Amino acid sequence: MSQIDDLPPLREVVRRHGLSATKALGQNFLFDLNLTSRIARAAGPLDGVTVVEVGPGPGGLTRALLAAGAARVVAVERDARCLPALAEIAAHYPGRLEVIEGDALKVNLAAAAGGAARIVANLPYNVGSVLLVDWLTSERWPPWYGSMTLMFQKEVAQRITARPGEDAFGRLGVLAGWRTEARILFDVPASAFVPPPKVTSSVVQLVPRAAPLACSCAVLERVTAAAFGQRRKMLRQSLKSLGGDTAALIAQAGLDPTQRAETVPIEGFVALANALSADDTRRTEPSEA
Ligand code: SAM
Repeated sequence: MSQIDDLPPLREVVRRHGLSATKALGQNFLFDLNLTSRIARAAGPLDGVTVVEVGPGPGGLTRALLAAGAARVVAVERDARCLPALAEIAAHYPGRLEVIEGDALKVNLAAAAGGAARIVANLPYNVGSVLLVDWLTSERWPPWYGSMTLMFQKEVAQRITARPGEDAFGRLGVLAGWRTEARILFDVPASAFVPPPKVTSSVVQLVPRAAPLACSCAVLERVTAAAFGQRRKMLRQSLKSLGGDTAALIAQAGLDPTQRAETVPIEGFVALANALSADDTRRTEPSEA
């Protein structure tokens, strides 16, 4: 595939609009439309689908999503310099591209999507994991998005998809594994970006589980923060920061107090969160005496 649309090559678009990449905005652009088409295809058949894209930049992935048949792309971009280039794409695909100028951390993406949608993005590295955690901790579950196909630094991708017992297993792995099925689809070399970042990137796909094990998301985050805050320590030590009777909490969750956080399965963290919630309730309820 050499040409996906009749729009000018991205290098030319970037030159014409003076879009020199800004490090502070995590800008590493993809100019190869074959590669952006591969990412768009990884999100599955897009006919009739609304896609939310964070950080379209000059629009390489946006163009691929539209060429792949997305009914509508809602793209949130913080850098106003990119808007004229995106307007050209919108004109080429009338009524199908809506660009929102703003910070994706502040924009209500669910409302912007206006219904079922998929998230597809080459995320800015500086806010990528914050955005992901935001999406994973959505109050409503199943969430507003049907899947997320996202580019991260490979090391972050490995943490998102890590399983218990692996070095990379931590807070991100628990959260992602609890609520979604997450996997790395393929790696993208640094040389594919302009300017090239220092490390390899990976495209990750996360599909929400219809019914994740029941527990409070906020409490689960508290438990994993404590457990992985001291990841080399045994649970009986690392969980002390939660307060209360640590030994009883661990016993109630059916775990071994000498285990380290990185060996605890996700069900174990959920059991800990539920035991802690029950403990909190007991402590806040007025005593009968
Ligand atoms: N999608 C483009 C591509 O693949 O070539 C650009 C990807 S670049 C890694 C990240 C983009 O996110 C940049 O265009 C940057 O301006 C934008 N960005 C950075 N922080 C943002 C934020 N908080 N909200 C929305 N967009 C942001």
